[in-house]
This record gives sequence, C-alpha cells and structure tokens, in this order.
Amino acid sequence: MTQMKESQATEAQGALPRVSHWINGQIVPSTSGKSRPVYNPATGQQTKTVDIASVEEIEAAVAAAKAAFPMWRATSLAKRADIMFRIRNAFDTHRDEIGAIITSEHGKVLSDSAGELARGIENIEYACGVPQLQKGEFSEQVSGGVDVYSIRQPLGVVAGITPFNFPAMVPMWMFGNAIATGNTFVLKPSTVDPSVSIYLAQLMKDAGLPDGVFNVIQGDRVAVAGLTEHPDIAAVSFVGSTPAARRIYETGTKAGKRVQALGGAKNHMLVLPDADIGLTADAAVSAGYGSAGERCMAIATIVTVGDVHDPLIEAIKERLPQVVIGDGTKPESLMGPLVTETHRDKVASYIEAGASDGATIVADGREHPLYKESDGFYLGVSLIDDVTPEMSCYKDEIFGPVLTVVRVDTYEEGVKLINSHEFGNGTAIFTRDGGAARQFQFDIDVGMVGVNVPIPVPVSYYSFGGWRASLFGDSHMYGPEGVKFFTRGKVITSRWPDPSTSEINLGFPRTK
Ligand code: NAD
Repeated sequence: MTQMKESQATEAQGALPRVSHWINGQIVPSTSGKSRPVYNPATGQQTKTVDIASVEEIEAAVAAAKAAFPMWRATSLAKRADIMFRIRNAFDTHRDEIGAIITSEHGKVLSDSAGELARGIENIEYACGVPQLQKGEFSEQVSGGVDVYSIRQPLGVVAGITPFNFPAMVPMWMFGNAIATGNTFVLKPSTVDPSVSIYLAQLMKDAGLPDGVFNVIQGDRVAVAGLTEHPDIAAVSFVGSTPAARRIYETGTKAGKRVQALGGAKNHMLVLPDADIGLTADAAVSAGYGSAGERCMAIATIVTVGDVHDPLIEAIKERLPQVVIGDGTKPESLMGPLVTETHRDKVASYIEAGASDGATIVADGREHPLYKESDGFYLGVSLIDDVTPEMSCYKDEIFGPVLTVVRVDTYEEGVKLINSHEFGNGTAIFTRDGGAARQFQFDIDVGMVGVNVPIPVPVSYYSFGGWRASLFGDSHMYGPEGVKFFTRGKVITSRWPDPSTSEINLGFPRTK
C-alpha cells in the first residue's frame, strides 16, 4: 500500500511542469538529475519542479553569453536602444500574465505583483535612454592639437543573482542597464519563484534581443559559486540576505570581479510627538504588512518618541482588522501568504521569542484562522510592543508581517538606536516639523530615507542602496550608479600632427 502511494507520488511529480534554464535563446532542460519543488503558497501545493544546474550547464550559459558579447557590444547604440524600447513594450503588453506568474509562486496579491512590475519596467525605461547614458566627455585642445576624451565600455559577461521577494523587479534593476550598455547577462533567480525569469527571457527574444545576450541558470549554491568564481564573468550583481551577500562579495572580489551585493534590512520608522496619528498609523500598517512584510524596504520597527506611543499603538490596533488576508488572486485580499512553509514558521517563531523575552504581544498572527486551518503558508499580522534592542525580534531581520515597537524618550535617542543597528537599508521619519525632518536626513546613517514616506524606494533615475550590512561594494543598484557599475571608463589622448613638425622629445608630455 505504502509502495503504491510512493509510486503514485513519483508519477504525479513527474507530470508537473518543469522550470528549466534559458541558454542561447532557448529553453534547455537540465540533465543534472537534480530539481527542487515549486509551490503555490496560497494552497501549499507543489505546482512545478525547478531544475538545478550542473557545473557543465553553468559553463554552457557563460559560454553562450561570452560568444554573444563581441556582436552585442558592436551593435549600434541606436539598435540597442530600439531593442530596449521593444522589450519595454513587451513587458508592458504582458503585465497581467507576468503578474499572475509572480503571484502563483510568490503569493503576493495581484495588485502588488503589478506594482513590482511597474517599478521594474521603470528601470527598463531608464535603460532605453542608453545613447544619452553611455555618453563620454570631450576636451578639445588640452595642448596644442591634442584632444582628450573619455568613453564608457561594457565589461563583458555579467551575472545577476536575485532573491525570491521581487522575482521580476530585481532582475530588471540589473539586466536593463547591463544589456543596454552592451554587456551580456546570466541571471540566477531564486529557486522559490523561478518561472517568471523564463517568461521574461522569451518576451525579450520575441522583442528582438539576439540569442546569448540574456541567459538564465536555475540553481542553488553550486550555480552561485560557479558564477561568482568564473573567470569569464566580469561582474556580479547580487541581492539577497546578508550572509550570502557578504560571502558573494568576498568571493567575487577575491576572484578579481566587480561586485555589488545588497543584503538584508531592518527598517525603522521614527515617529515624533507632533506626527499625525492617523496618517502615521496608515503608513505603518501599509509598509509593515504589505507583501506580508517580505520587502527589503518594509517597515519592521516603529520607534515612538515620547507621548506619541499610546495613541499610535491604539490607532494601529484599530486598523489591523482591515488587513484582509487570503489568496493573492482574490480581489478582496490585501495580504497573501508567506513564500514557503519554512519561512512562515521562522517568522512565527519570532512572536514566541518576543513573548518569552518580555515584549507585549498586542496582536498574534498565529491566531488567524488561515494559520490554523489552511494548507497555504498563511500567518496573520503581528504587533509586538515594549520591544528592547537586545531582543531577537528587534535585532534580526524577520522578513514577515510582524511590526515591533520600541519606545524612546527623545529624538536623539531614536537616531542613536537606528544608527546602531546592524542594517542600514531604509528608514523614515514621521513628523510635521520640516526642521526636524531635515536634521534627520543629515544625522541618519542609512542609505535611503523617507520623510513621511514609509517605503522610500528611489525612482529609477536615482540609485538604490543601503549602508552598513545592507550593502557590500561601492556602488548602488540601478540608475546612474548602475550604468557606471556595468561599464568601465577609457580615456583617449589624441593628436593628428603634421609629420613635418615631428621631433624626438624625451621629456614627459606637457599640456601647456
Ligand atoms: P537569499 O539570500 O536566501 O537568496 C538570494 C539568492 O542567493 C537566491 O538566488 C539564492 O538561491 C541564493 N543563495 C541563497 N543562499 C545562498 C548561499 N548561502 N550562497 C550562495 N547563494 C545563496 O535571500 P532570499 O530569501 O531569496 O531573499 C530575501 C532576502 O533578500 C532578505 O534578507 C531581504 O532583505 C533581501 N533583499 C534585499 C534587498 C536589498 O535591496 N537590500 C532587496 C530584496 C531582498
């Protein structure tokens, strides 16, 4: 009987759709014999399997990108810009399909998938301006008959390694600028929600991107190590958790590569006593529980200054029932499930840890009926008050729908607390005092700051990056810094002299 069940299970698994690699313009199924399950978090059911690349498959993807590079870097700026516009239009035309794929594997509500995609497409739109972005500089007549000019050239084959929480947007942060500036690209998406990468690859091919310019390798640490250490990869752009970011930065730079590695976060919202309570409570609930708290810019900790504490907690508590939790495809759902069962359980463990450390559990997500009864990976919203800096629910990145609240007496104490945390990705101040807000932007050691804006993700024509353990490397992601990251400078000093005036001169060339 048991044997029969097992063989049925194998058969059923065999029948599931398979997510494979995309190499040189086509789907390439893995022959590694290794795969991982892909789930629909709303139902808890396995829906697909994802291939796990062998070393040979990583080699094949890098080789395809390497072979395509000479042709792609020689393709005119006009043609590259034209293809980027076509890619942008293809993504735009297929917003609903892309959003549905994201929700089916990540679990976020459809409106949030649409939001992710909109912010991703912004980055492709930015990259459409490549003829302007990749311009150099020219100085005429630096010396008699001598001109100096600079150009920015692509690096070669570059890699992107991306997290589960934005399976379309974060790759677009990277490949938009990388491809537009003439590099070829190998993407290693998260194994948790891998399908959208292949859908985007097909759309890009249909939009006219030549084969080999964009490749996808599905895989785990072997794929990451293979890309990070590969001699033919010039640069690695990584987004994910801090331990992985640190390791990839160290390994990649040791191998002589340019690396930008964005890590985890614990974003604080500092609330001054003069803040509008209703507006601040709305912002805290939206930014804390949106996408089930699985955003690197989610608000994780509210820091209340003085008397604002009690009324704010009351206002947040009143709003919690409005957060309708359910299947992300249902229009009434405002928050979907968490991405995996393991992650959901880890998030829930912080509620327990907070309680045993002496914090006050104002709302416990484990009491939500879907947590108790559904096979999906649901957890209700949690609010933990009276949190102190030594508690694990304060120190660690929880990455779930859990808001922790720390009380301080003064603005200075709040700033010191935020500046002392391991992570410095984003932060926000809520106040009606412009002078206090300006002082905050001056004082705070965090890369992205919101003034009455809880999730201050920069638009695509600025760059995105945190400080401290939220980013390893020198340049931020996308925007002007992204273009710089994926190109290198060359300076040419040139003259076209009359040979009859030529003479031997052993001195160092002078500019006067
Ligand atoms: P993760 O670190 O587990 O995975 C990220 C990528 O690295 C995936 O492709 C994964 O397959 C790979 N990976 C995982 N562990 C690895 C290891 N030990 N060695 C090499 N590669 C490894 O992150 P995640 O759970 O997919 O995403 C959530 C994390 O990403 C959170 O910490 C979140 O804050 C962070 N994040 C940060 C930003 C940012 O801009 N700073 C943006 C989005 C997500």
